Amino acid sequence: MHVEQMSGEQLQAELQALETRYAELAELNLKLDLTRGKPGTEQVSLSDALDGILGGDYRAADGTDARNYGGLDGLPEAKQLFAGTLGVPAAELLIGGNSSLTLMYAVIDFALGTGLRGPESAWGNEDEVKFLCPVPGYDRHFAICEHLGIEMIPVPMLSTGPDMDIVEELVAADPAIKGIWCVPRFSNPTGCVYSRATVERLARLGSIAGDNFIVMYDNAYAVHTLDADAEALADIREFCIRHNTQDSVFQFGSTSKITFAGAGVAYLASSPDNLAAFKKHLGFQTIGPDKVNQLRHVRFFRDAAGIAAHMEKHAALLRPRFQAVLDTLESELAGTGMGEWLSPRGGYFISFNSRPGLAREIIRLAADIGVALTPAGATFPYGDDPADSNIRLAPSYPSLEDVQATAEAFVVCVKLASIRQKLQ
Ligand code: PLP
Repeated sequence: MHVEQMSGEQLQAELQALETRYAELAELNLKLDLTRGKPGTEQVSLSDALDGILGGDYRAADGTDARNYGGLDGLPEAKQLFAGTLGVPAAELLIGGNSSLTLMYAVIDFALGTGLRGPESAWGNEDEVKFLCPVPGYDRHFAICEHLGIEMIPVPMLSTGPDMDIVEELVAADPAIKGIWCVPRFSNPTGCVYSRATVERLARLGSIAGDNFIVMYDNAYAVHTLDADAEALADIREFCIRHNTQDSVFQFGSTSKITFAGAGVAYLASSPDNLAAFKKHLGFQTIGPDKVNQLRHVRFFRDAAGIAAHMEKHAALLRPRFQAVLDTLESELAGTGMGEWLSPRGGYFISFNSRPGLAREIIRLAADIGVALTPAGATFPYGDDPADSNIRLAPSYPSLEDVQATAEAFVVCVKLASIRQKLQ
Protein backbone atom coordinates (compact mmCIF):
# COMPACT_ATOMS: atom_id res chain seq x y z
CA MET A 1 0.00 0.00 0.00
CA HIS A 2 1.19 3.54 -0.77
CA VAL A 3 2.45 5.26 2.34
CA GLU A 4 0.43 8.39 1.51
CA GLN A 5 -2.79 6.38 1.48
CA MET A 6 -2.31 4.66 4.84
CA SER A 7 -4.54 5.70 7.71
CA GLY A 8 -3.08 6.66 11.08
CA GLU A 9 -4.03 3.23 12.42
CA GLN A 10 -2.45 1.43 9.50
CA LEU A 11 0.73 3.44 9.92
CA GLN A 12 0.89 2.60 13.63
CA ALA A 13 0.27 -1.11 12.99
CA GLU A 14 2.94 -1.14 10.29
CA LEU A 15 5.36 0.69 12.58
CA GLN A 16 4.94 -1.91 15.30
CA ALA A 17 5.46 -4.79 12.91
CA LEU A 18 8.57 -3.12 11.49
CA GLU A 19 10.02 -2.38 14.89
CA THR A 20 9.60 -6.02 15.85
CA ARG A 21 11.21 -7.13 12.60
CA TYR A 22 14.06 -4.63 13.08
CA ALA A 23 14.67 -5.89 16.62
CA GLU A 24 14.80 -9.47 15.29
CA LEU A 25 17.37 -8.43 12.71
CA ALA A 26 19.42 -6.72 15.43
CA GLU A 27 19.51 -10.03 17.34
CA LEU A 28 21.16 -11.76 14.38
CA ASN A 29 24.44 -9.84 14.83
CA LEU A 30 24.68 -9.39 11.08
CA LYS A 31 27.95 -8.43 9.49
CA LEU A 32 27.00 -7.46 5.96
CA ASP A 33 28.57 -4.97 3.57
CA LEU A 34 27.10 -3.65 0.36
CA THR A 35 29.50 -0.74 -0.03
CA ARG A 36 32.21 -2.21 -2.18
CA GLY A 37 31.91 -1.67 -5.92
CA LYS A 38 34.53 -4.25 -6.66
CA PRO A 39 34.44 -7.67 -8.30
CA GLY A 40 33.86 -10.69 -6.10
CA THR A 41 36.51 -13.31 -5.51
CA GLU A 42 34.90 -15.74 -7.98
CA GLN A 43 34.95 -12.97 -10.58
CA VAL A 44 38.65 -12.18 -10.26
CA SER A 45 39.35 -15.93 -10.27
CA LEU A 46 37.95 -16.07 -13.81
CA SER A 47 41.23 -14.52 -14.93
CA ASP A 48 43.66 -16.65 -12.95
CA ALA A 49 44.99 -18.12 -16.19
CA LEU A 50 46.73 -14.78 -16.79
CA ASP A 51 49.30 -16.02 -14.32
CA GLY A 52 51.95 -17.88 -16.25
CA ILE A 53 50.18 -17.59 -19.60
CA LEU A 54 53.29 -16.24 -21.32
CA GLY A 55 55.17 -19.46 -20.58
CA GLY A 56 58.48 -17.70 -21.06
CA ASP A 57 57.54 -16.19 -24.45
CA TYR A 58 57.73 -12.44 -23.98
CA ARG A 59 57.83 -11.52 -27.67
CA ALA A 60 55.11 -9.23 -28.96
CA ALA A 61 53.82 -9.76 -32.51
CA ASP A 62 56.39 -7.34 -33.97
CA GLY A 63 59.23 -9.01 -32.07
CA THR A 64 59.37 -6.42 -29.27
CA ASP A 65 60.65 -7.88 -26.01
CA ALA A 66 57.87 -6.95 -23.57
CA ARG A 67 60.29 -7.27 -20.67
CA ASN A 68 62.22 -4.19 -21.68
CA TYR A 69 61.64 -0.42 -21.68
CA GLY A 70 59.75 1.41 -24.39
CA GLY A 71 56.37 1.48 -26.07
CA LEU A 72 55.04 4.56 -24.29
CA ASP A 73 51.55 4.18 -25.74
CA GLY A 74 51.32 0.40 -25.57
CA LEU A 75 51.88 -2.75 -27.61
CA PRO A 76 50.16 -2.60 -31.01
CA GLU A 77 48.19 -5.83 -30.48
CA ALA A 78 47.02 -4.65 -27.03
CA LYS A 79 45.94 -1.32 -28.53
CA GLN A 80 44.03 -3.22 -31.19
CA LEU A 81 42.29 -5.38 -28.58
CA PHE A 82 41.26 -2.63 -26.18
CA ALA A 83 40.43 -0.03 -28.85
CA GLY A 84 37.61 -2.42 -29.75
CA THR A 85 36.03 -2.06 -26.31
CA LEU A 86 35.77 1.71 -26.82
CA GLY A 87 34.90 1.48 -30.52
CA VAL A 88 37.88 3.55 -31.69
CA PRO A 89 40.76 2.81 -34.09
CA ALA A 90 43.91 1.48 -32.41
CA ALA A 91 45.77 4.58 -33.60
CA GLU A 92 43.58 6.73 -31.33
CA LEU A 93 44.28 4.71 -28.17
CA LEU A 94 47.01 5.02 -25.57
CA ILE A 95 47.59 2.32 -22.97
CA GLY A 96 48.68 3.47 -19.55
CA GLY A 97 49.38 1.54 -16.39
CA ASN A 98 46.88 -0.32 -14.26
CA SER A 99 44.30 2.37 -13.52
CA SER A 100 42.03 4.47 -15.70
CA LEU A 101 41.52 6.78 -12.75
CA THR A 102 45.23 7.60 -12.85
CA LEU A 103 44.83 8.48 -16.55
CA MET A 104 41.83 10.70 -15.80
CA TYR A 105 43.74 12.50 -13.08
CA ALA A 106 46.70 12.90 -15.41
CA VAL A 107 44.56 14.41 -18.19
CA ILE A 108 42.97 16.97 -15.87
CA ASP A 109 46.28 17.77 -14.26
CA PHE A 110 47.77 18.20 -17.74
CA ALA A 111 44.95 20.52 -18.84
CA LEU A 112 45.28 22.57 -15.66
CA GLY A 113 49.00 22.92 -15.42
CA THR A 114 50.47 22.39 -18.89
CA GLY A 115 47.57 23.14 -21.22
CA LEU A 116 45.86 20.92 -23.73
CA ARG A 117 46.76 23.28 -26.60
CA GLY A 118 49.97 24.80 -25.31
CA PRO A 119 50.84 26.88 -22.22
CA GLU A 120 48.38 29.68 -23.12
CA SER A 121 45.53 27.21 -22.83
CA ALA A 122 46.31 25.93 -19.32
CA TRP A 123 43.12 26.14 -17.27
CA GLY A 124 45.26 27.15 -14.30
CA ASN A 125 45.86 30.54 -16.00
CA GLU A 126 42.27 31.45 -15.26
CA ASP A 127 40.77 32.66 -11.99
CA GLU A 128 38.21 29.89 -11.78
CA VAL A 129 37.91 26.41 -13.22
CA LYS A 130 34.59 24.59 -13.01
CA PHE A 131 33.35 21.13 -13.97
CA LEU A 132 29.86 19.80 -14.54
CA CYS A 133 29.10 16.76 -12.42
CA PRO A 134 26.01 14.73 -13.29
CA VAL A 135 24.45 13.51 -10.03
CA PRO A 136 24.29 10.98 -8.63
CA GLY A 137 27.75 10.15 -9.93
CA TYR A 138 31.08 8.53 -9.13
CA ASP A 139 32.68 9.82 -5.93
CA ARG A 140 36.25 9.45 -7.19
CA HIS A 141 35.58 11.74 -10.15
CA PHE A 142 34.38 14.35 -7.70
CA ALA A 143 37.38 13.74 -5.44
CA ILE A 144 39.77 14.51 -8.34
CA CYS A 145 38.08 17.87 -8.90
CA GLU A 146 38.02 18.72 -5.21
CA HIS A 147 41.67 17.77 -4.81
CA LEU A 148 42.72 19.91 -7.77
CA GLY A 149 40.65 22.92 -6.71
CA ILE A 150 38.06 22.63 -9.48
CA GLU A 151 34.62 23.89 -8.52
CA MET A 152 31.89 21.33 -9.14
CA ILE A 153 28.44 22.14 -10.47
CA PRO A 154 25.90 19.33 -10.06
CA VAL A 155 23.65 18.53 -13.01
CA PRO A 156 20.69 16.15 -12.70
CA MET A 157 20.93 12.68 -14.25
CA LEU A 158 17.91 11.52 -16.23
CA SER A 159 17.24 7.99 -17.44
CA THR A 160 18.82 9.13 -20.74
CA GLY A 161 22.00 10.52 -19.12
CA PRO A 162 22.81 14.04 -17.90
CA ASP A 163 20.07 16.63 -18.41
CA MET A 164 21.52 18.09 -21.61
CA ASP A 165 19.24 21.14 -21.68
CA ILE A 166 20.82 22.27 -18.42
CA VAL A 167 24.32 21.20 -19.50
CA GLU A 168 24.15 23.19 -22.74
CA GLU A 169 22.73 26.22 -21.01
CA LEU A 170 25.46 26.23 -18.34
CA VAL A 171 28.28 25.64 -20.80
CA ALA A 172 27.08 28.44 -23.10
CA ALA A 173 26.77 30.87 -20.19
CA ASP A 174 29.98 30.26 -18.26
CA PRO A 175 33.42 30.03 -19.92
CA ALA A 176 34.93 28.90 -16.60
CA ILE A 177 33.25 25.51 -17.14
CA LYS A 178 36.01 23.40 -18.63
CA GLY A 179 34.54 19.93 -18.62
CA ILE A 180 31.94 17.37 -17.68
CA TRP A 181 32.21 13.91 -16.13
CA CYS A 182 30.37 11.09 -17.87
CA VAL A 183 29.97 7.34 -17.30
CA PRO A 184 28.02 6.73 -20.48
CA ARG A 185 27.19 3.03 -20.32
CA PHE A 186 25.74 1.58 -17.10
CA SER A 187 26.44 4.81 -15.33
CA ASN A 188 27.86 4.72 -11.82
CA PRO A 189 25.56 4.56 -9.91
CA THR A 190 22.24 4.84 -11.78
CA GLY A 191 23.04 2.12 -14.32
CA CYS A 192 21.47 4.06 -17.18
CA VAL A 193 22.86 3.99 -20.71
CA TYR A 194 23.13 7.44 -22.28
CA SER A 195 20.69 7.81 -25.15
CA ARG A 196 21.85 8.44 -28.70
CA ALA A 197 20.61 12.03 -28.52
CA THR A 198 22.56 12.62 -25.29
CA VAL A 199 25.74 11.19 -26.79
CA GLU A 200 25.39 13.45 -29.83
CA ARG A 201 24.75 16.50 -27.66
CA LEU A 202 27.83 15.68 -25.55
CA ALA A 203 29.86 15.43 -28.74
CA ARG A 204 28.57 18.86 -29.78
CA LEU A 205 29.52 20.59 -26.51
CA GLY A 206 32.99 21.31 -27.83
CA SER A 207 31.49 23.51 -30.53
CA ILE A 208 29.49 25.46 -27.93
CA ALA A 209 32.23 25.78 -25.31
CA GLY A 210 35.31 26.28 -27.45
CA ASP A 211 38.39 24.14 -27.87
CA ASN A 212 39.54 24.18 -24.25
CA PHE A 213 36.55 22.21 -22.97
CA ILE A 214 36.64 18.45 -22.51
CA VAL A 215 34.18 15.64 -22.01
CA MET A 216 35.67 13.14 -19.56
CA TYR A 217 33.96 10.07 -21.02
CA ASP A 218 34.72 7.33 -18.51
CA ASN A 219 33.46 4.20 -20.23
CA ALA A 220 34.39 2.00 -17.26
CA TYR A 221 31.50 -0.41 -17.93
CA ALA A 222 31.65 -0.48 -21.73
CA VAL A 223 31.44 -4.28 -21.98
CA HIS A 224 29.97 -5.05 -18.56
CA THR A 225 26.50 -6.22 -19.53
CA LEU A 226 24.25 -8.35 -17.34
CA ASP A 227 21.93 -9.20 -20.24
CA ALA A 228 23.07 -10.08 -23.73
CA ASP A 229 20.48 -7.72 -25.25
CA ALA A 230 21.36 -4.74 -23.02
CA GLU A 231 21.18 -1.37 -24.75
CA ALA A 232 24.24 -0.49 -26.82
CA LEU A 233 25.94 2.88 -26.52
CA ALA A 234 25.95 5.22 -29.52
CA ASP A 235 29.36 5.98 -31.02
CA ILE A 236 30.54 9.35 -29.69
CA ARG A 237 33.53 9.42 -32.01
CA GLU A 238 31.27 9.32 -35.05
CA PHE A 239 29.33 12.33 -33.73
CA CYS A 240 32.58 14.15 -32.94
CA ILE A 241 33.73 13.66 -36.52
CA ARG A 242 30.37 14.97 -37.76
CA HIS A 243 30.61 18.08 -35.54
CA ASN A 244 34.36 18.52 -35.85
CA THR A 245 34.90 18.23 -32.10
CA GLN A 246 37.27 15.28 -31.84
CA ASP A 247 39.62 17.24 -29.60
CA SER A 248 36.89 17.73 -27.00
CA VAL A 249 36.47 14.11 -25.90
CA PHE A 250 38.74 11.89 -23.82
CA GLN A 251 37.49 8.32 -23.44
CA PHE A 252 38.70 5.99 -20.71
CA GLY A 253 38.50 2.31 -19.94
CA SER A 254 40.29 -0.44 -18.11
CA THR A 255 40.21 -4.15 -17.39
CA SER A 256 39.83 -3.53 -13.65
CA LYS A 257 36.41 -5.20 -13.74
CA ILE A 258 37.29 -7.54 -16.58
CA THR A 259 40.42 -9.26 -15.25
CA PHE A 260 42.13 -8.17 -12.01
CA ALA A 261 40.98 -5.00 -10.24
CA GLY A 262 44.10 -2.94 -9.69
CA ALA A 263 46.30 -5.30 -11.72
CA GLY A 264 44.74 -4.90 -15.15
CA VAL A 265 45.35 -2.61 -18.10
CA ALA A 266 44.02 0.95 -18.43
CA TYR A 267 43.68 3.02 -21.58
CA LEU A 268 42.46 6.29 -22.99
CA ALA A 269 41.32 7.34 -26.43
CA SER A 270 41.21 10.79 -27.97
CA SER A 271 42.04 12.75 -31.12
CA PRO A 272 45.50 12.31 -32.68
CA ASP A 273 46.46 15.87 -31.57
CA ASN A 274 45.39 15.27 -27.99
CA LEU A 275 47.20 11.95 -27.90
CA ALA A 276 50.40 13.46 -29.25
CA ALA A 277 50.33 16.26 -26.66
CA PHE A 278 49.47 13.93 -23.80
CA LYS A 279 52.05 11.37 -24.86
CA LYS A 280 54.76 14.02 -24.82
CA HIS A 281 53.70 15.00 -21.30
CA LEU A 282 53.59 11.35 -20.20
CA GLY A 283 57.10 10.84 -21.49
CA PHE A 284 58.37 12.94 -18.60
CA GLN A 285 56.70 10.63 -16.09
CA THR A 286 57.53 7.18 -17.40
CA ILE A 287 59.74 5.34 -19.85
CA GLY A 288 56.84 3.08 -20.64
CA PRO A 289 53.95 1.09 -19.20
CA ASP A 290 53.88 -2.57 -18.11
CA LYS A 291 53.94 -4.32 -21.49
CA VAL A 292 54.27 -7.76 -19.92
CA ASN A 293 50.80 -7.35 -18.46
CA GLN A 294 49.50 -6.08 -21.78
CA LEU A 295 50.90 -9.14 -23.53
CA ARG A 296 49.37 -11.44 -20.93
CA HIS A 297 45.98 -9.85 -21.57
CA VAL A 298 46.35 -10.22 -25.33
CA ARG A 299 47.25 -13.91 -25.03
CA PHE A 300 44.41 -14.45 -22.55
CA PHE A 301 41.65 -12.86 -24.65
CA ARG A 302 43.03 -13.04 -28.19
CA ASP A 303 40.21 -10.90 -29.62
CA ALA A 304 36.91 -9.12 -28.99
CA ALA A 305 35.04 -12.44 -28.99
CA GLY A 306 37.36 -13.60 -26.19
CA ILE A 307 36.47 -10.55 -24.12
CA ALA A 308 32.75 -11.04 -24.80
CA ALA A 309 32.86 -14.71 -23.74
CA HIS A 310 34.74 -13.74 -20.59
CA MET A 311 32.22 -11.00 -19.74
CA GLU A 312 29.42 -13.54 -20.03
CA LYS A 313 31.08 -15.48 -17.20
CA HIS A 314 31.11 -12.31 -15.08
CA ALA A 315 27.44 -11.74 -15.90
CA ALA A 316 26.56 -15.26 -14.76
CA LEU A 317 28.01 -14.44 -11.34
CA LEU A 318 26.60 -10.91 -11.12
CA ARG A 319 23.09 -11.49 -12.51
CA PRO A 320 21.69 -13.41 -9.50
CA ARG A 321 23.14 -10.83 -7.09
CA PHE A 322 21.48 -7.96 -8.95
CA GLN A 323 18.30 -9.98 -9.26
CA ALA A 324 18.22 -10.66 -5.51
CA VAL A 325 18.33 -6.93 -4.74
CA LEU A 326 15.91 -5.92 -7.50
CA ASP A 327 13.38 -8.67 -6.67
CA THR A 328 13.44 -7.68 -2.99
CA LEU A 329 12.99 -3.98 -3.80
CA GLU A 330 10.18 -4.84 -6.19
CA SER A 331 8.29 -7.19 -3.89
CA GLU A 332 8.69 -5.03 -0.76
CA LEU A 333 8.70 -1.45 -1.99
CA ALA A 334 7.01 -1.21 -5.41
CA GLY A 335 3.93 0.99 -5.19
CA THR A 336 4.65 2.07 -1.58
CA GLY A 337 6.04 5.51 -2.44
CA MET A 338 9.00 4.73 -0.19
CA GLY A 339 11.66 4.66 -2.87
CA GLU A 340 12.58 4.64 -6.54
CA TRP A 341 15.26 2.78 -8.45
CA LEU A 342 16.19 1.73 -11.97
CA SER A 343 16.87 -1.85 -13.02
CA PRO A 344 20.32 -1.68 -14.59
CA ARG A 345 21.19 -4.12 -17.36
CA GLY A 346 24.90 -3.89 -16.69
CA GLY A 347 27.55 -2.19 -14.59
CA TYR A 348 28.09 -2.56 -10.86
CA PHE A 349 25.44 -0.57 -9.04
CA ILE A 350 21.81 -0.06 -8.18
CA SER A 351 20.92 3.50 -7.29
CA PHE A 352 18.09 3.87 -4.77
CA ASN A 353 16.28 7.12 -4.00
CA SER A 354 14.42 7.20 -0.72
CA ARG A 355 11.80 9.76 0.24
CA PRO A 356 13.61 13.10 0.67
CA GLY A 357 15.46 13.53 3.93
CA LEU A 358 15.86 9.82 4.72
CA ALA A 359 19.09 8.50 3.17
CA ARG A 360 21.20 9.25 6.23
CA GLU A 361 18.61 7.79 8.57
CA ILE A 362 18.24 4.59 6.51
CA ILE A 363 22.01 4.15 6.41
CA ARG A 364 22.21 4.73 10.17
CA LEU A 365 19.43 2.22 10.86
CA ALA A 366 21.22 -0.34 8.67
CA ALA A 367 24.60 0.31 10.32
CA ASP A 368 23.05 -0.21 13.77
CA ILE A 369 22.07 -3.77 12.83
CA GLY A 370 25.40 -4.59 11.17
CA VAL A 371 24.63 -3.72 7.55
CA ALA A 372 27.16 -1.36 5.97
CA LEU A 373 25.89 0.83 3.12
CA THR A 374 27.77 3.48 1.13
CA PRO A 375 27.72 6.74 3.15
CA ALA A 376 24.91 9.14 2.29
CA GLY A 377 26.02 11.91 -0.02
CA ALA A 378 28.91 9.87 -1.48
CA THR A 379 27.40 10.12 -4.95
CA PHE A 380 27.35 13.95 -4.88
CA PRO A 381 30.09 16.60 -5.13
CA TYR A 382 31.41 17.58 -1.70
CA GLY A 383 29.43 14.65 -0.25
CA ASP A 384 26.33 16.82 -0.27
CA ASP A 385 23.08 15.28 -1.48
CA PRO A 386 20.70 18.22 -1.02
CA ALA A 387 17.66 15.93 -0.96
CA ASP A 388 19.40 13.42 1.37
CA SER A 389 17.84 10.69 -0.72
CA ASN A 390 20.36 8.74 -2.82
CA ILE A 391 21.84 5.43 -1.67
CA ARG A 392 24.25 3.43 -3.82
CA LEU A 393 23.93 -0.35 -3.55
CA ALA A 394 26.83 -2.47 -4.77
CA PRO A 395 25.92 -6.17 -4.90
CA SER A 396 28.99 -7.60 -6.68
CA TYR A 397 31.33 -8.43 -3.81
CA PRO A 398 29.36 -10.30 -1.10
CA SER A 399 28.11 -13.86 -1.53
CA LEU A 400 24.64 -14.28 -3.02
CA GLU A 401 23.37 -15.32 0.39
CA ASP A 402 24.72 -12.13 1.97
CA VAL A 403 23.34 -9.96 -0.84
CA GLN A 404 19.90 -11.47 -0.23
CA ALA A 405 20.14 -10.96 3.53
CA THR A 406 21.34 -7.37 3.04
CA ALA A 407 18.53 -6.56 0.64
CA GLU A 408 15.97 -7.88 3.13
CA ALA A 409 17.44 -5.88 5.99
CA PHE A 410 17.68 -2.81 3.75
CA VAL A 411 13.99 -2.75 2.87
CA VAL A 412 13.07 -3.06 6.56
CA CYS A 413 15.23 0.03 7.28
CA VAL A 414 13.68 1.92 4.35
CA LYS A 415 10.16 1.12 5.51
CA LEU A 416 10.88 1.90 9.14
CA ALA A 417 12.42 5.29 8.31
CA SER A 418 9.59 6.11 5.89
CA ILE A 419 6.77 5.23 8.28
CA ARG A 420 8.42 7.10 11.15
CA GLN A 421 8.84 10.16 8.92
CA LYS A 422 5.20 9.95 7.86
CA LEU A 423 4.05 9.74 11.45
CA GLN A 424 6.07 12.75 12.55
N1 PLP B 1 35.45 4.69 -13.35
C1 PLP B 1 34.31 4.27 -12.79
C2 PLP B 1 33.02 4.84 -13.25
C3 PLP B 1 34.34 3.32 -11.76
O1 PLP B 1 33.18 2.93 -11.21
C4 PLP B 1 35.59 2.81 -11.35
C5 PLP B 1 35.67 1.83 -10.24
O2 PLP B 1 34.75 1.61 -9.51
C6 PLP B 1 36.75 3.28 -11.96
C7 PLP B 1 36.65 4.22 -12.96
C8 PLP B 1 38.11 2.82 -11.54
O3 PLP B 1 38.78 2.33 -12.63
P1 PLP B 1 40.32 1.90 -12.57
O4 PLP B 1 40.42 0.72 -11.68
O5 PLP B 1 40.65 1.60 -13.98
O6 PLP B 1 41.11 3.07 -12.05
